[in-house]
Amino acid sequence: MQTNFSSAQLADPHVAESEKILRKCVHCGFCTATCPTYVTLGNELDSPRGRIYLIKDMLENGRPADKEIVTHIDRCLSCLACMTTCPSGVNYMHLVDHARAHIQETYKRPLLDRLTRAMLAFVLPYPQRFRAALKLAKLGKPFIGLFEKVPALKPLAAMLKLAPASISVASPNALPGVHAGQGAKKGRVAILTGCAQSVLDPAINDTTISLLTRLGVEVVVPPGEGCCGALVHHMGREEAALASARQNVDAWTGAIDQGGLDAIIITASGCGTTIKDYGFMLRLDPAYADKAARVSALAKDVTEYLAALDMPEPVRKPGTVVAYHSACSMQHGQKIIRQPKELLAKAGFVVREPREGHLCCGSAGTYNILQSEISARLRDRKVKNIEATGASIVATGNIGCITQIASAAKLPVVHTIKLLDWAYGGPKPDGVPEERGRG
Ligand code: SF4
Ligand code: SF4
Repeated sequence: MQTNFSSAQLADPHVAESEKILRKCVHCGFCTATCPTYVTLGNELDSPRGRIYLIKDMLENGRPADKEIVTHIDRCLSCLACMTTCPSGVNYMHLVDHARAHIQETYKRPLLDRLTRAMLAFVLPYPQRFRAALKLAKLGKPFIGLFEKVPALKPLAAMLKLAPASISVASPNALPGVHAGQGAKKGRVAILTGCAQSVLDPAINDTTISLLTRLGVEVVVPPGEGCCGALVHHMGREEAALASARQNVDAWTGAIDQGGLDAIIITASGCGTTIKDYGFMLRLDPAYADKAARVSALAKDVTEYLAALDMPEPVRKPGTVVAYHSACSMQHGQKIIRQPKELLAKAGFVVREPREGHLCCGSAGTYNILQSEISARLRDRKVKNIEATGASIVATGNIGCITQIASAAKLPVVHTIKLLDWAYGGPKPDGVPEERGRG
């Protein structure tokens, strides 16, 4: 694509980066076919190619964002299916991240939208605040129907609907410390304790620590870890996202300096995509660029790490039929496709893949709160495809997808690691039936 930025504009490294991305796009439109919002809404402006044109126009003309561009960029899930499809290697992720930051800087949203976004950014990345908010949400649940009738209050209704009925107690494993591996030492890793996942399902990391240590891997929870920054990053709040990135880079650099790390284990693929991008996000900060690149290189989804370990034979082969839902951040963001399925199959599960596996379930960070109607349409489409597999359970590697799919599916939805842990001698995950191979 031809671009017309002035040399003064290109002196801004963010604009220069976006210009490089824009020039790669050849307008072929292949990406439209796999874009969930285009498939759902049928509007070119809600396709990757349409958004690329809108972003180009805004940046090239040095214009502040307007209502039209905000509408179509807000509808983008950042699922990155377009990057998987694109034959020209267009880095849509970095382009839309830049557009979101530009919107945040130049566009004044309506008051309630601003308040909702500020509240999400204030609460979700902080487990204590999130836990308190979930307790408050119980009081708000009777008013969901009322809030749904007022367009500006729909995000509040969506939040209340997603809030779980019961809240788990905080896990002591989220506190800084070292979990020694059993038997011959196979490795030393840090684990991201994260934010929302540690409140919604602390058992995911507990199970991960239990399985890794049983396999002989020492697991470190370094002091100072926090939210990866993805939630605010996707809202265009760049300074907050970079502050989270720096905090985590400091925490993991400390752990690398004190004993070394083979990997930084991440159990939520949405976080993994962002942490693997820290090297890019902090490339302009001389104090952090190298350290951030080192952290990004060490970041591994737990299934990516396990697939590279010499896994023993499972203790039991459950034979349960599992529909594997590949989170967008797993398949498109990190290109982790086969490892989770191969691990599940090796552990004795019968793995089935739902149709339209490339399409997002509609979770996408805070998307299911801020764009609840499109999100619900995508969720229902996803659940229908999952249920058509005839599986007894759904496995996936991202807490956002677990919450989203479980809000409509009749099947139990569990993190992949819980099924692997069960096969390797851990307890059976809640709600999972035991059955012998129907597949
Ligand atoms: S990130 Fe997803 S929703 Fe956004 S343009 Fe690409 S395919 Fe469409
Ligand atoms: S597939 Fe790639 S090159 Fe083609 S229109 Fe989409 S982003 Fe541009």
